Order: sequence, then C-alpha cells, then structure tokens
Amino acid sequence: MMTKLFSKIRVLALALVLGLICSSSAFASATIIIENADAAGVGFNDTTPVAPIGGNAGTTLGQQRLNAFQFAASIWGATLTSGPTITVRARWMALPCTANTATLGSAGATSLWRNFTNAPFANTWYAPALANALLGSDINGSTAEIQAQFNLNLGTTGCLENRPWYYGLDNNHGPNRINLVTVLLHEFAHGLGFASFTDEEDGTQPQGIPGAYDRFLLDNTTGKTWPQMTDAERVASAINDGNLVWNGPQVLADAALLTSGKDSSGRPKLFAPNPVDSGSSVSHWDRSASPNQLMEPNISTNLTHSVTTPQDLTFSMLRDIGWCAGCAPPTPPPAPANDNFAAAQTINGCSGNVAGTNTGATRETNEPRHSPDNNVGGGSVWYQWQAPANGVVTITTAGSGYDTLLAVYTGTSVNNLSVVLQTDGTPAKNDDVDPNHVDTTSGVTFNATAGTVYRIAVDGWGGSRGNIILNWSQSNCSQAPPPAVLTEQATSRAVAVDSVTQVKGPFPITGFFNFSADRYTRVMIFTSSLGTASAVDLAVHINGLPMVIETFGTVPGVNQASYITVKLTDLLPGGTLPLTVTVRGVTSNTATIDIVK
Ligand SMILES: [Zn+2]
Repeated sequence: MMTKLFSKIRVLALALVLGLICSSSAFASATIIIENADAAGVGFNDTTPVAPIGGNAGTTLGQQRLNAFQFAASIWGATLTSGPTITVRARWMALPCTANTATLGSAGATSLWRNFTNAPFANTWYAPALANALLGSDINGSTAEIQAQFNLNLGTTGCLENRPWYYGLDNNHGPNRINLVTVLLHEFAHGLGFASFTDEEDGTQPQGIPGAYDRFLLDNTTGKTWPQMTDAERVASAINDGNLVWNGPQVLADAALLTSGKDSSGRPKLFAPNPVDSGSSVSHWDRSASPNQLMEPNISTNLTHSVTTPQDLTFSMLRDIGWCAGCAPPTPPPAPANDNFAAAQTINGCSGNVAGTNTGATRETNEPRHSPDNNVGGGSVWYQWQAPANGVVTITTAGSGYDTLLAVYTGTSVNNLSVVLQTDGTPAKNDDVDPNHVDTTSGVTFNATAGTVYRIAVDGWGGSRGNIILNWSQSNCSQAPPPAVLTEQATSRAVAVDSVTQVKGPFPITGFFNFSADRYTRVMIFTSSLGTASAVDLAVHINGLPMVIETFGTVPGVNQASYITVKLTDLLPGGTLPLTVTVRGVTSNTATIDIVK
C-alpha cells in the first residue's frame, strides 16, 4: 500500500500584521463558491448582532464574515478564468495564537493532480482549481478545491489582543484592525496554487514529483531550479536567504513594479529565512519586497485589495504556473464510450487484451474510489468480464501510458458494488504493481467463479489520463464450447416453437387470444451448451439484428438443452433468415428461421 502524498500538502500559515480596497481587473471570470463548514452558532453561523461597517451590510457577525468572503471571492472571480466552479470549503476555528502573535488563517489545495489533458507540464502536480480550469471540467467531482480556516478568537484575551478582525469591504481598517478581505485574498491565492508542495524541511516532493510552482524556483547560488535538485539541495535552497528567486516569464515581465526585493537580474526574491519557517518559507515573496506585496508571509497594513499589476504580482505568479487571463475555457475532451458503469465494455474469454483510453472520462455520482489509498481518481472507465471457468485470474494494465488505478467488483449498479478479494485476502484495488512506483501500471489477482460477471474499473491516480491496455488471463481456463442451436434433421432450420396466438376448444371459442398484449410474435428456440449464461452476455441475432430475449433456461430432463424465448421485431424481412446465439462473445452455428410476412 502506498502513501502517496496527501499528508504532504502543507497548510500555509500566515503570521500577523496587517493590511486594505478593491480593484478587479476584469477580463475574465470564474465562479467561486464559499462552502460554509461551520457548526450551528459558530463562525459563519454566529448570530451575534453587529452594525454594518465599511460597506458590509451584514447585521450579524456570521453574515458579515460571509459577506467578506464573497467579496474576496468576487475579486478573484473577476481576475481568473475558469469554466468549472471553484469551491472554497471554509470554517472559523481556534488557530494558534498568543497575546502578541496569531495565525490569522491557513488555506491550501484539497488534493493534487497531474498528467491531465492540457496540463502545461507533464509529471507535475497542480492544485485542483487550476487543474479544472486547464482541463475544462471538474476533475475532482463535488469535492471542494480549496480548504481554508480562519482564526475565530482574534482580538480576544490571549489571542492578539486589541487586534480584532475588520469586516468592512472598504479597506478602511485603521491602525489596529486586521483586514479580513486582504487575508482572504492571500489565503485563496495559496489554494489557487501559490504554494510549493515540497516539504521545505526535508526537501522531499510528493512521490518525488515537483509541483508547478517548484518549476519556477531558481537558486542563484547553484543555478539550479528545484526540480533539478536533490532533496538535500532543496533543503539548502529553502534557507538560502536572498538567493532563492522566481524565474517565471510573467513575473519577470511585471517585476518592474518592485523597487526592492529583487536579485541583480530583476527576479523577485522568495521568503527563505534561516532557520526555515515551516509553512511559510518558499511559498511567499521575501519581506524585502517594496511596495508591499499581498503574498509576503506577513500582511502589511498598506496593502490594497489588488491582486494584479500595477500594484501586485500575485496574479502574475499564478499566470506563470498556468492560470490564464481572459482566455476562453477549453472544450473538455469527449468522454469515452465506456465512461459510465452502465456502458461498460464487455471483454470475453480466458485471456486477452484490449486497448482503450480514460481521456475525457469522469467520475460518476456515488462511484467507489478505486485506489487502495482512497485517492479520488476522477477519470474511470468500465469493463465487464464473465469468468468462463473457475480459477485464478490476473488482470493488469501493463502497457498503459499513465499512472493507472485498477479495481474489480461484483454488483449491478455503480452505487452498490462489492469489491472482490484477491488471493492474498486484500481488496482487489491496486495503484502500482511496483511498490517503488517506477512502474505505475496496476494489477490484481483473484479467484474467479465461472459465470460470475466481474466489473472492472480503470481510473488514473491523481486524475491521470492516457491510453489503457487492459490484460486478463485465467489459469486452468478452457473456453466453453460454443452454444449449438438445435436444428431439424438434415436442415439448418432451427428447432423452434412459434408463439401461441389463438386457442380453441375444449373451451368455448371466444376469439383471438394474444400471447402478450403487444401482439408481437414470440419464438422459442432450443440450444445446447448454453452453460451458465446470464442476461448480460446472451444474445440472439436473426438476420444480423439483435432480438429481445424475454426468457431463457434449461429444458427439464433434457441433458444440456436450453430454451430461449425471443420477441420478433417489425424490422425483420420475410424469407429464410440466419439465426445465431452468442454467449460471452462465443457464437453458435448459424441456423435458419422462416419468416412469413
Ligand atoms: Zn501565506
């Protein structure tokens, strides 16, 4: 089992000091929703009456907090371009503080994604809000993209006393109050991707893979970017005060607005104190920046509510990692035919392989997670396979072009599946066959029961997309013989019983009596070797057209004989027509049937 990284997503804390008005550069738009995660009576739900202040018309504490959030969300919403909605799951809670210092808030991405369609860099982590904007669809489903916490106790005894929140929207916070809108703009930026996912204390990256932010971190001492470094070199770089700089083209183009806080080549310095300031180092601009920047580790009192040039470099940095200004949201790639459980692709036989893709695939409502580490995946496609025999089967994605997830279930609806147990007793959910994650394809092995239909999901870890090769092989399996449609002696005419359309005597003749209300003709045909067919994989074709199968079963007392009742359709022409029965992809002899119209 693996622990691929969620624990590594750091919560970015923000120490005190404070900050001010709004200017939104409105190209663009993204819808940002605040999800209230507070309990009744707390935080956003605090009903304490308050007077409206600074353009915030709320008359309860909770409503004023929510208004400030929505105001900050509208500033980012007018700046960013995103088709999918961005959801910020927010709550108010006790955060670390003393009489003189406090964590105002913290925020971060809820998950990490890579190798999705339109990702600017391959094998690079992205925050889900940015991944969604680039992909053009919601890679992480209904889960919030950003989670954020804010200090409930600020300004009270023992928690940065006499420095309460300012809930006004006009940036007129005065010398002693902390401007909530400014803090929100800062924290939302972290959640949008203004953050390194590298552990700045030990230099490790999630799964050894850099984030988009890290690709622009340059150390002037070594001349290396963070992805080019070893873990130890990143540890050294994170405390290389004054020499860790941002080397992205948009920031460099806009950095003229800084009169200080840059290196000799004009590249803005990042916050890299020695010793490391865990949670703050690397993921902020250096404190020497002038004019003061929103994304310094401490909030300055003279900030505006601007996140763009000519005041601020926050959006310039976000553009470097992939956010777009004023561009059209991309068209999502089309979904593959077997995206949904109900449209699973049928695979047949003792062994084989089939090519596919999960590009454009989505997660369904109430779909189980297919990863053993509960990774949400997000791009699943479905296959179904009916075991031809009893025996151990191995199913793999060997040869696929991305980091697959593979899981096998039984059950008939996507929200009511039972995961199969492997021969070693563990659930049949696999991320990587290789515990060191060099080979990121997947495989499961389980004891299959003849006739059981197995549901196979192929997804991508962290939302990864690409080409699939699905392989299956059952040991001690010999393909069941094809079914044989029984025919009349010395002809190809199927042994069949037409439906009864009228009856007479010994009852009184009362007229026509229809076998069924729709008056279509039913034909019962007889076969051998139907075996353990289920309705899922049994098909009857007449003249190449699939017939509706109404009933099937064994003929009592006749060894190996089965019957199948089909309803004829108006689409059949008259004449002598070919008839076949197919079970699990194996087709019978071709019999004939005479249709007189
Ligand atoms: Zn911060």
